[in-house]
Amino acid sequence: MSSTTFSLEVRPNIPQRLERLHELADDLLYSWDRQVRGLFYRLDQELWEACGHNPKVFLRRVSQETLEQAEGDRIFMEDYNRVLSVYDTYHQEGMRSHIEPYLDPKKDLVAYFCAEFGFHESFPIYSGGLGILAGDHCKAASDLGIPFVAMGLLYRQGYFTQTIDNHGHQIAHYAPTDFGTLPVHLCRNESGEERRVTVGMPGREIQLRLWHAKAGHITLYLLDSDLPENSEADRAITYQLYGGDSHTRIQQEIVLGIGGVRALRVLGLQPTIWHINEGHSAFQILERSRELVVEEELTFEAALEAVAAGTVFTTHTPVPAGHDMFDAGMMEEYFSGFHEELGKDFQEFFELGTTGENGEVFNMTTLALHGSRFNNGVSRIHGGVAAEMEATLWPEVPPEENPIRYVTNGVHVPTFLAREWGNLFDMRLREWRNELLNEDFWEAIDQIPDHRYWSLRQSLKTELLEDVVERAENQYRRNGYSEAMIKRITHYARQSEADTLVIGFARRFATYKRATLIFSELERLKELMNDTDRPVMLIFAGKAHPSDKPGQELIRRIHEYALQPEFVGRILLLEGYDMALARKLVTGVDVWLNTPEYPMEASGTSGQKAGVNGVLNLSVLDGWWGEGYDGNNGWAIVPHDPGFDPHYRDSEEARDLVDILAREVVPLYYQRNNHGYSAAWVQRSKAAMKSTIPRFNAQRMVMDYVRDFYSPARDQDARFRARKHAAATELAEWKGRIRESWDGVELEMVEEPPRALPHGDSLQLRVRARLNGLTPDDVTMECLVAPARREDSPFKPEDRFQLTPEEEDEDDSGSWIFTLDLCPRLAGLQHYRVRMYPSHPRTSHPFETGRMVWL
Ligand SMILES: *Cc1c(COP(=O)(O)O)cnc(C)c1O
Repeated sequence: MSSTTFSLEVRPNIPQRLERLHELADDLLYSWDRQVRGLFYRLDQELWEACGHNPKVFLRRVSQETLEQAEGDRIFMEDYNRVLSVYDTYHQEGMRSHIEPYLDPKKDLVAYFCAEFGFHESFPIYSGGLGILAGDHCKAASDLGIPFVAMGLLYRQGYFTQTIDNHGHQIAHYAPTDFGTLPVHLCRNESGEERRVTVGMPGREIQLRLWHAKAGHITLYLLDSDLPENSEADRAITYQLYGGDSHTRIQQEIVLGIGGVRALRVLGLQPTIWHINEGHSAFQILERSRELVVEEELTFEAALEAVAAGTVFTTHTPVPAGHDMFDAGMMEEYFSGFHEELGKDFQEFFELGTTGENGEVFNMTTLALHGSRFNNGVSRIHGGVAAEMEATLWPEVPPEENPIRYVTNGVHVPTFLAREWGNLFDMRLREWRNELLNEDFWEAIDQIPDHRYWSLRQSLKTELLEDVVERAENQYRRNGYSEAMIKRITHYARQSEADTLVIGFARRFATYKRATLIFSELERLKELMNDTDRPVMLIFAGKAHPSDKPGQELIRRIHEYALQPEFVGRILLLEGYDMALARKLVTGVDVWLNTPEYPMEASGTSGQKAGVNGVLNLSVLDGWWGEGYDGNNGWAIVPHDPGFDPHYRDSEEARDLVDILAREVVPLYYQRNNHGYSAAWVQRSKAAMKSTIPRFNAQRMVMDYVRDFYSPARDQDARFRARKHAAATELAEWKGRIRESWDGVELEMVEEPPRALPHGDSLQLRVRARLNGLTPDDVTMECLVAPARREDSPFKPEDRFQLTPEEEDEDDSGSWIFTLDLCPRLAGLQHYRVRMYPSHPRTSHPFETGRMVWL
């Protein structure tokens, strides 16, 4: 006999006095305002957990009785009104005054495109670091009152949720989201009709719906293709984040990049700054160029200059899988009509995504770099790595001087700071929310008494371990483990009052992160973790991409280790890593471990989340930790050069790691004073907070973008837009001339310069430049001077001097003599080099053309 279970949701009538709960549930501000979430939590804690911290679902399921009781509860109503008053004040504030020199809130608008946004676990359109960073960027933009909209995709199924079975296999689950449970609404025009846009796919047009979500001061727009007007296959384009095959991927990127631009137009928005956050959305460059070609009759080259002038592009990873590439067949299939509209034949069009070296595939990062003039990586180390990786775009420019710079990522502190710290700061550092950019302010952390500090950290750990026990019980029970075994697995986590050093490792299981590195020192690790006086626990969590088999193999191996007798209960592998588990872990553990292969970790923001909570990072000096580590605020594993044999490097770094644990971390944690805590640990933990909060928060990051990228892009956009894009046309034509002539440009010394000079004399340089049809106005010639200790010292220029065009060479027309009277600043041996590059007042970067000749 079979029977069907029907579901019925009995929905309450929200009492009038509590009506604004709807408004709070409908503003993503709840994702970073713990006071707002606290209201729901306090109404019904169990329900709040059961509905995945989703306020809209909560309001549909909470009982009438609970609401009526709350209405009569004076303390609850006071808190409710206080939260609303803070909420209203937040919404009344305008742009922060310190941004005024850079942006005009009336005229400027940043349009921020990204394939994923991680605001909160209840809004499942993110997978990991990139999405959470994008969410944090939006949150900080809202906090600062920046004129800002975000553009993304509304995925019906999102990224998968993860379970791990009793063999350690990752199982990926996809469940459709009912959009009615999300804080999103369809965009409609004045007469109430849905706003739609269309984009072309091979042989057809597809329709897209447009949604909006309020996130404090900013709006997040999201596109989806799941409409009855589209074919089944086209409806599925926006089902899964990073799912499907390369066709799904290119289709999603067409929807996001091209559909996203059309959506902003339909909404009547006029961005002055376009931020492409990772290459997925770079097709927007093609659509914006097409608009200018079709509507303003610009040449494609001029259109591309105009578009690039107002565009910022951020690249996020050196890992090849993070750079989408499409082959020529696919590009032709999807863009045949498009390249004709641009007035380009296919080959020229295809070259937008290629560089001389790599002409086989269309690379979205290359397209993004061709169509943006403001480029960056996400940490100091990664900026350098990205400049090297992409050096072929500027083939004659030394990588360290090419236009790729960096903005180090930061995390949104109110999102990731534990509630308990927030409450303590509210009492002791009242203005902390407004002082996130002020390093001096955070010295006040020292005023928190050590014992108080320690006990707060311990209570956060207890809270974490309670959660860990519950999760582990569910996980292992579902997998059919005996109750006796489950007891053993959760044994140490249950004894949280027994005071154990807890280490966390939670991140995407990509092979470069080397999750199993620590096990290379297996015997020492067993000994270390089982010291009964000074025990250690290790908690793992994370997802591997469903098609990343080696990543899933890491999960399986950790699962096996965790079941070895010496590790049972000491090592726990938790399934279902998401923002909720991340917040718990980064606030509750003592040490945050990261062991990437240098230099593959572009940033590693989870370490910042840990640091702001006083958790000590123990990490390879890569990504943000290369800037964050100061000798006192955690521990560093000094990486080997990538040139070493990987086995040698891994075993050396694993040994370093276990050495640091055994010699420094464990002894420091267990070095107790007669009040029962480790004062030295507290000191280090305070140092972590003081150094991480003001330097690695999302407001600092967004301010870096505003000052160094958005504001210059806005200015450049305005210059290029003036007089029907005259500057864009002028620059495009000039670049055309450079392309034609530059291969024939040459430099030579007119006469051999002296090899020694008496002090006080100047060096007369005379250099002949064969300009091959260019004029001296088209170029800059400069002399770089580097002090040298020895003949073979590396050339590190400290000064540069411009040479001036003196006269056209009588014997050789088209050649000019450039001269310089160089009076060296220093005494002793110096090296110098002379180079010339195309220069034009309209370029955004002096080496934008990528061309340069050296003498
Ligand atoms: C912060 C975060 C990440 C990114 O962390 P990494 O340090 O880059 O590994 C991934 N997933 C979740 C859920 C996060 O909160």
